[in-house]
Amino acid sequence: MDFLRPTTWAEALAAKADQPDAVPLQGGTDVMVEINFAVRRPVALLDLTRVAELATWSEQDGRYRVGAAVPYSTIIGELGGALPGLAQAARTVGSPQIRNRGSVGGNLGAASPAGDSHPPLLAADAVIEVESRDGGVRLIPAAEFYLGVKRNALRLDELIRAVHVPAASGPQYFSKVGTRNAMVIAVCSFAVALHPGDRRVGTGLGSAAPTPRRALEAEEFLAGELDWDAPLDPAVLRRFGELAARAASPIDDVRGTAGYRTHAISVMARRTLTWAWHDHLGRRAA
Ligand SMILES: Cc1cc2nc3c(=O)[nH]c(=O)nc-3n(C[C@H](O)[C@H](O)[C@H](O)COP(=O)(O)OP(=O)(O)OC[C@H]3O[C@@H](n4cnc5c(N)ncnc54)[C@H](O)[C@@H]3O)c2cc1C
Repeated sequence: MDFLRPTTWAEALAAKADQPDAVPLQGGTDVMVEINFAVRRPVALLDLTRVAELATWSEQDGRYRVGAAVPYSTIIGELGGALPGLAQAARTVGSPQIRNRGSVGGNLGAASPAGDSHPPLLAADAVIEVESRDGGVRLIPAAEFYLGVKRNALRLDELIRAVHVPAASGPQYFSKVGTRNAMVIAVCSFAVALHPGDRRVGTGLGSAAPTPRRALEAEEFLAGELDWDAPLDPAVLRRFGELAARAASPIDDVRGTAGYRTHAISVMARRTLTWAWHDHLGRRAA
């Protein structure tokens, strides 16, 4: 097995262009597990850990550009105020060791329907920045990034450079059901992001369909029905839960049944919206 060790982003792109079947390696918390369990035997590994540019984040005009290698622990420690939905999801990932190694870039690369960063990225209108040596930069909205079970929109010669996330303009919440409290893959998960300026609520479902996805019908319903100056109408909340559940198309597996997942999505949708609405009205009153 070849082991490629670029030290700059340009070298990494060149290596991927020259050897498109090389498997990128960031924190290795997915890749190494797959290699150890012989799920895959790559002909080459492209170690990105020495590409310093990937491990930094920056902010400009209220938009955060989070490098693909930024670990969950940094998102929790440094970005919790600006990107609260993503930081909440990051807090639920694995253990401290996994959060120190694992990255959002790796979560996007793996594109598991159960990946915890996906629902908050969808709810917050994140955009994935990918690049190849010969094709240049592409900016892919999160909603277009997930193509199938563990399949994403990356071309063979492309690498993920960063994820762009607007600073939260309103409350954001993430909720995850697991079979225990920590070190657990989501049975299913749900994220909401309030965008009060646009009178809009973003959503994201995890582990409840072949890909992470938004609950579009539920979002459209809220855009038409929410009174942003009033307490939540229980009928609106109930309908939101029903429509969020309708967006799910889950399977039965060892972690949970499709029926349970559909029910849990509706409960989490109602809960997260209630929490967010409580904060929204609290901020207005302050
Ligand atoms: C014990 C344990 C617990 C876990 N718990 C959770 C959990 O609770 N929630 C959760 O969501 N995940 C969990 N995971 C999975 C894993 O930690 C996450 O998916 C993590 O985000 C992967 O990041 P990484 O940097 O380690 O990726 P890697 O393993 O290095 O890579 C993951 C995938 O992304 C690709 N990739 C990496 N970087 C790039 C890049 N720049 N461009 C293109 N492709 C790239 C790789 O080729 C690979 O396909 C767990 C894993 C373990 C071992």
